[in-house]
Amino acid sequence: MATGWAREGAVQEQIDDTVKDGVERAKSRLPQGESATHCHDCGAAIPEARRAALPGVRLCIKCQEKADKETRHFSGYNRRGSKDSQLR
Ligand SMILES: [Zn+2]
Repeated sequence: MATGWAREGAVQEQIDDTVKDGVERAKSRLPQGESATHCHDCGAAIPEARRAALPGVRLCIKCQEKADKETRHFSGYNRRGSKDSQLR
């Protein structure tokens, strides 16, 4: 990690924008309101800790992971990762 470079600020701004975009996307994806007691997809009970940690949660961990994977796939969230693998 280089520090003290004049251009670092510009790079940091880009990183901030990327993080902000990711947070905004995550926020808009998360349902708000009361947490469901059971997964809306498979009907499995959602642990109290998960409901407390994620207000408005509707899916169990398994289904959420599946949904996250699909969201990443369609939104191009991992575009950077695929670019890296092309360089290998
Ligand atoms: Zn489920």
